[in-house]
Amino acid sequence: MFDYLIVGAGFAGSVLAERLASQDDLKVLIVDRRSHIGGNAYDHYDDAGVLVHRYGPHIFHCNAPEIFAYLSQFTAWRPYQHRVLAQVDGQLLPIPINLDTVNRLYGLALSAFELEEWFASVAESRAEIRTAEDAVVSKVGRDLYNKFFRGYTRKQWGLDPSELDAQVTARIPTRANRDDRYFADRYQAMPLHGYTRMFERMLAHPNIKLMLNTDYREIADVIPHRQVIYTGPIDDFFDCRLGKLPYRSLEFRFETIDAPTFQPVGTVNYPNEYDFTRITEFKRLTGQTHPKTTIVYEYPRADGDPYYPVPRRENAELYKAYQALAEAVPGVTFVGRLATYRYYTMDQVVAQALATWERLRNARRLIAA
Ligand code: FAD
Ligand code: UDP
Repeated sequence: MFDYLIVGAGFAGSVLAERLASQDDLKVLIVDRRSHIGGNAYDHYDDAGVLVHRYGPHIFHCNAPEIFAYLSQFTAWRPYQHRVLAQVDGQLLPIPINLDTVNRLYGLALSAFELEEWFASVAESRAEIRTAEDAVVSKVGRDLYNKFFRGYTRKQWGLDPSELDAQVTARIPTRANRDDRYFADRYQAMPLHGYTRMFERMLAHPNIKLMLNTDYREIADVIPHRQVIYTGPIDDFFDCRLGKLPYRSLEFRFETIDAPTFQPVGTVNYPNEYDFTRITEFKRLTGQTHPKTTIVYEYPRADGDPYYPVPRRENAELYKAYQALAEAVPGVTFVGRLATYRYYTMDQVVAQALATWERLRNARRLIAA
């Protein structure tokens, strides 16, 4: 008899499996319908021998020392600061928007202090920051919004920024200095031997059994277990009985080039041209030395594997209705980006999984007392 059946071997499922097995000495069966562990963070060596991320570029960043320390038990790290350029008006300019972005785009020579005043002069005032459009135009004004955010967002989400919650674009800061790093977090690094190797080490515990190529529905009735942790899409768990909850998908097109490098930084964004949103060159992220290089193009899609919850009011309402159903199912805990319908990064999912583990532990103690 397994204590836990865990559905999904991504960050949410693997962190919980690891904690329950190693700290609480519980028996765990973790299943994934894919042929590999790691969920959307899965990486592998492609046919040319270049380490690539099958589901798009994953860069680890976080501020919390305890999250970094937790994952550091399973991997060494390669320090890496991600940099992104956006192709706008024929130039490759830094995004997040910073002092160099504005000076080079408009042919100005503003100082950081003058740029603050310049932003204030072009910003549109908003009583409330409600939408992804508000979040940008209230800081940098309409022209930068149109050049860097409007087209990219419409491509990525199939919606205008005015139809999305502010959090979607509020993730991207605006800077008056020359800092051109994509993230400002305290810890920014890549797992030295890749994400998959890190997941292998998390799951390498005798209390953990792993089944791949397995939908949990195929085995739930035949393998005895006490509790379930579910990390897949929440609407799928309930056979979409309240309607389909939108998840945005992507199609990835990989290309190996017979040259050691392709582009000047890890990712180049194309807000206004082409059907793809961005191109990422993996060797820039991983630091791998190889005579060839592999890049990936991301083409947003409405259908396909669920990758992104779509943050907007009507979806949050439908999610709440599913959440109410979820709370009424005894013995099942919903965790992770798809199961809690949150636009979470990896570190946020790890934090959510660790908090869930504490909660489950306290609940067991209460029952035992
Ligand atoms: P997932 O990784 O989706 O794992 C869920 C697993 O459940 C999947 O493997 C799925 O196959 C399995 N499953 C679902 N249903 C079933 C079922 N019925 N039976 C069996 N198995 C099932 N985060 C960052 O911090 N930095 C980044 O740079 C970054 N870049 C990203 C780029 C892209 C293109 C995407 C899509 C995401 C990115 N993220 C990034 C976010 C990151 O991928 C997620 O936060 C994290 O992987 C979520 O982990 P999870 O365990 O919640 O879900
Ligand atoms: N965004 C944009 N232009 C850019 C970069 C980002 O409009 O050059 C917007 C877009 O809506 C995107 C969101 O900001 O979906 C969040 O960007 P991020 O790079 O965090 O997206 P992710 O890596 O999660 O796909």
